[in-house]
Amino acid sequence: MKLSYNQYDVHCTHPFGISRNTHESYPEIFVYLEKDGLIGRGEASPSDRYGESADLILNTLGKGIQFPEAIVHPNIFEETVLSQCNGLKALEVALSIAYLDWWTQNNGMPMKDFFGVTTNSGPLTSFTIAIGNMDLIAQKVEEAKPYHILKVKLGSENDKEIIHAIRAETDKVIRVDANEGWDLASGEIMCKWLADQNVEFVEQPLPADKVHDTAELKKKSPIPLIADENCLIPENIPEIAHAFDGINIKLMKCGSMLKAKQMIDMAREVDLQIMLGCMVESSIGITAAAHLAPLVDFADLDGHLLIDNDPYIGMQIEDGRVIIPNGDGLGVELNSKYKGLK
Ligand SMILES: [Mg+2]
Repeated sequence: MKLSYNQYDVHCTHPFGISRNTHESYPEIFVYLEKDGLIGRGEASPSDRYGESADLILNTLGKGIQFPEAIVHPNIFEETVLSQCNGLKALEVALSIAYLDWWTQNNGMPMKDFFGVTTNSGPLTSFTIAIGNMDLIAQKVEEAKPYHILKVKLGSENDKEIIHAIRAETDKVIRVDANEGWDLASGEIMCKWLADQNVEFVEQPLPADKVHDTAELKKKSPIPLIADENCLIPENIPEIAHAFDGINIKLMKCGSMLKAKQMIDMAREVDLQIMLGCMVESSIGITAAAHLAPLVDFADLDGHLLIDNDPYIGMQIEDGRVIIPNGDGLGVELNSKYKGLK
């Protein structure tokens, strides 16, 4: 199996601000696995929140990855290959996606079939309004017109002002992501206030090391709490299930398509609601997540919609809903405008 890779910087349509930082672009690493005339594509979108970077990924790839000589089941591939990724979850999932793309193409099936998904249609996706220039809020709400649900980044000083500005434009359902920006006292005030603003739930209200406080907030909050920074891998689910009403699964956090499916199954067993989220990324990573989307309650798969140089075409949105592309494997193709990529 031949491995190649490229760094590619995705450029944000608007500077993307959350409670921690603001970015104008993000480095992606595309990985390609080729064998027998088929190409499997994967994407790593490293997050500094988790100590990952494009340089760390490129260094690890530069040292070489050993692949099984025979064609193996994706379970075996992940057992033997992902341990060589130096613990970098974004790289692990890039190789997981690329191999599953290759393997399902080689078996003449769409990736979703591997997971027992029987429909191409997933939930409605939210569209993110990030922290940024307040004067742009009306424009951002207008740009979000094709989507039925807004995800609003809070956790800054002017949280109420942001919600008031959006509510002046639209009464669409809002999902709030505080990105660890509150403490127990401010979280309690905000959750009660947001409940009156047609807000469906709040993602990661408190810092990830405040699980005890989050469990207290859960008792008082009229709206559900969803774990993001508190829920990275399957092993986190039993640790935090008492403090949240649901979890946000992201491929870039859990490091494997198979583990993402395992997290969906585990969350169902303990009655946690399930959201499928993403980083700011291209249509490779987003489409991989889309293949699992019909299995979850909430989709937040808009990372490719927030950039203006997505080189790939994959998952589509119809009337706000996630639609898995037809075709074998991931179903992603390179937009012919973009040269130098595969
Ligand atoms: Mg989040």
